[in-house]
Amino acid sequence: MRPFSFSIRKQFYRLNVNFTDCIQIITKKEVVAKIGINISTGSLQKEEIIVGIDLGTTNSLVAIIHPDNKQPVALKEHDSSSLVPSVIHFDEQGNITVGNEAKRFLVTEPQQTIFSVKRLMGKSYNDIRERSSFFTYKVIDDNTESLVKIQAGNKFYSPVELSSYILKELKHRAEHILKTPVTRAVITVPAYFNDAQRQATRDAGKLAGLDVLRIVNEPTAASLAYGLGLNKEESKTVAVYDLGGGTFDISILRIAGGIFEVLSTNGDTYLGGDDFDQAIVDYWVGQTGITREELQLHKQVAQSFRLKAEEAKRFLSTANAFTSEIAGTPVHLTREKFEELIRPFVDRTIVCCTKALKDAGLSVTDIDEIVMVGGTTRVPLIKESIGQFFGKKVHDDVNPDEVVALGAAIQADILAGNNKDLLLLDITPLSLGIETMGGLMDILIPRNSKIPSKAGRQYTTQKDGQSGMRISVFQGERDLVKDNRKLAEFNLTGIPGMPAGLPKVEVSFLINADGILSVTAKELRSGVSQTVEVKPQYGLTDAEVEKMLLDSITHAKEDMQSRALVEAQTEAKQIMETTSQFLSRNASLLSTEEIEVTQNAIAVLNAVMESGNKDMIQEKIEALNDISRPYAERVMDQAISKVMSGKSIKGSI
Ligand code: ADP
Ligand code: MG
Repeated sequence: MRPFSFSIRKQFYRLNVNFTDCIQIITKKEVVAKIGINISTGSLQKEEIIVGIDLGTTNSLVAIIHPDNKQPVALKEHDSSSLVPSVIHFDEQGNITVGNEAKRFLVTEPQQTIFSVKRLMGKSYNDIRERSSFFTYKVIDDNTESLVKIQAGNKFYSPVELSSYILKELKHRAEHILKTPVTRAVITVPAYFNDAQRQATRDAGKLAGLDVLRIVNEPTAASLAYGLGLNKEESKTVAVYDLGGGTFDISILRIAGGIFEVLSTNGDTYLGGDDFDQAIVDYWVGQTGITREELQLHKQVAQSFRLKAEEAKRFLSTANAFTSEIAGTPVHLTREKFEELIRPFVDRTIVCCTKALKDAGLSVTDIDEIVMVGGTTRVPLIKESIGQFFGKKVHDDVNPDEVVALGAAIQADILAGNNKDLLLLDITPLSLGIETMGGLMDILIPRNSKIPSKAGRQYTTQKDGQSGMRISVFQGERDLVKDNRKLAEFNLTGIPGMPAGLPKVEVSFLINADGILSVTAKELRSGVSQTVEVKPQYGLTDAEVEKMLLDSITHAKEDMQSRALVEAQTEAKQIMETTSQFLSRNASLLSTEEIEVTQNAIAVLNAVMESGNKDMIQEKIEALNDISRPYAERVMDQAISKVMSGKSIKGSI
């Protein structure tokens, strides 16, 4: 069966909201215990560690909750850094290296060294066309609508594959450090990532041999690392300011009752610490008299400048002046000069903050906490300027390079069931249901249901001897299926011939923990059944989901009217059919007058069917009922009583 496009987001939606994070934390009362049992052997399984992964544009890392002190900790080997540069190098033979080793080739072998792959996740060439010069490696541009591919040597790679190499490296590192297999992970993504980008991240995890239990928003993870949101009673508005190597994100979160709601996001996908480095290079180049052309020609020299500039920048986060030399040429930079160089970038981030506040409908005084994320927030000028802008001291005591991964580890721990008081839930963003008579949406799993989730309902046939039933699965909030999104359709065939209303077809929906929906239809009397699996695919974007929700509100009144009309028409059709059948089967038991009056009433009802007037249809149904009731009671035979016994059945398809 073809996989149908379907989207279950780990999100909780409210109508005035852009994106809300995947998690709802509720107090764990009803859950007794979580014990892993190997189903084939019956033996108890040791709890396997679940890691938290920050898959960054510049750097990536893994964190866990330390089994002894229960504190989140970033994994690192001895005294090396916990950060793995998100860089992949392919050598002539096609060997792959990731991290610091690969980073050495950034300038000298630009065609073979892939960086910033996160920017390409879930993107087509059209999406990045304007920025194509940013990528010094070859991004394939032949088919502009499909997802981008990257060429290295004579091979082509998708961003999902490339990201999987980074994740594989992280997995190996973690396994080496922990001396145990690592197969389950929580991975973070920016709050603005759409479904395609989230799904691509999930796929990269799968390709790296990881079971991705949850995709979590980076600002949510960062807040958790500061303990925000762990107390269910608490409600707070938090600004998460994330300035990394090449990207800037500001997210305004509302945390209440354990639900993380992203009120707004803003930022600049081409603004970060790399720009600071470049500003320093430009300044030094101006001083030394080297021309840009010379730098372009001598890649090694350019690389030395870049590396030295980054060193100076980092040094100036804790010192007032930096002095060194590049290939015998002395270079110097004071904190004051550095701040002058980067001021325009800082100002740009503040403009983004203002916009984010405006979009959230808030002012600076509404913000309770400010969380600093990303290596670049170590720059003192950044902390000061942001503190000043919000009029509050910023949170900066957790290592800003690690804070997202640490938060992911906290979520992983909650998922593992180790945090006894908390339980994380996934929620369906839109209702799921099937089409019933007249194109109506019959909801089986309402939106905001927790997943995994299960629901079932019985339906029956509309016609005598009907041997098949078409089950059409839809997602959305509108009353008529034509306004919702079709996910799947299949036929239940082989229903043995029975009078209308007699078969009992049970349709069950099951969403498993991965968000995969399976739909089963089973005719209970004969046991005939059919199942279809609706796989989550690159589905709806957040904007589309939000539009669907908004539409359902805007059209609520007219939807109600059309539902009422369709219901009346369906009822009318059924009663006309049943009555006509009754007449022909029982003609001998009825008087000519009874037959004539009834046929007239049927004709009248039929005439108003297309009038669009629900009340009129209802009235004529009543009239027909009034006429047929007295004699129907008189001559009701066994078959009819059977049909009527199906009345507890929900509806017909
Ligand atoms: P990303 O989220 O994009 O992967 P990071 O959060 O790891 O990026 O940030 C990387 C950036 O942080 C780099 O530009 C790096 O130079 C910068 N950075 C790291 N440490 C410092 C420091 N001490 N002072 C200033 N900038 C720093
Ligand atoms: Mg980051």
